[in-house]
Amino acid sequence: MKDSDRIINIRELQHYFYCPHRWGLIHIGCDWSENFFVSKSQIIHNNADSGKTSSLRSKYVERSVQVYNDEWGLFGVLDCLRLTPDNNGCYIEKYRKKFSLEIVEYKPTKTTRSQAFTADKMQILAQKICADAMFGVSCSACIYYADTRKCVEIVFSQNDYEDLKQAIDAIRLCYAKAIIPPVDPSVYCGGCSMKDICLPKAVKINA
Ligand code: SF4
Repeated sequence: MKDSDRIINIRELQHYFYCPHRWGLIHIGCDWSENFFVSKSQIIHNNADSGKTSSLRSKYVERSVQVYNDEWGLFGVLDCLRLTPDNNGCYIEKYRKKFSLEIVEYKPTKTTRSQAFTADKMQILAQKICADAMFGVSCSACIYYADTRKCVEIVFSQNDYEDLKQAIDAIRLCYAKAIIPPVDPSVYCGGCSMKDICLPKAVKINA
């Protein structure tokens, strides 16, 4: 397989939009480091990753749903897919009914930083692109924040699709040339688990 055809894991897009350098350290440099925020996220995702189905009245929640889109060259896993009965929705053989579908992504903390929100939003857009193609409907999407216990609906613009496409192309180019993108001095580094490897202050001073 050529790097230009490389299938991208949706999780990588979250890393890339958070900080391209962080993405490069993880996926090109094969570095990894965890901190409090990473561990908290893993704990929050344990329930979603169980793969169990639950139901409430006539609604269902499927967990750990694997998705892909060949045209975009993406694959990944949805934390949750909420199924609500809807005669105009998608027929699901398992329940022999039609449903409207909602993607739910779990996050531990509601962020106020646009850099982190954009990273989460793009991750969910990639999930939606896969789920829409697989189920043949337009899925709605939301983020469930564990700290506030609230869901926030996420809406996408045409620009979001274009930004995602550009990022996927940039990632494929980095793989093809084994490039770790440079540190962007404007990136906010608080909370990044890779700080001890990246040493952002030294890099930014020298930039
Ligand atoms: S410490 Fe900052 S520059 Fe370095 S990888 Fe993390 S977010 Fe990116």
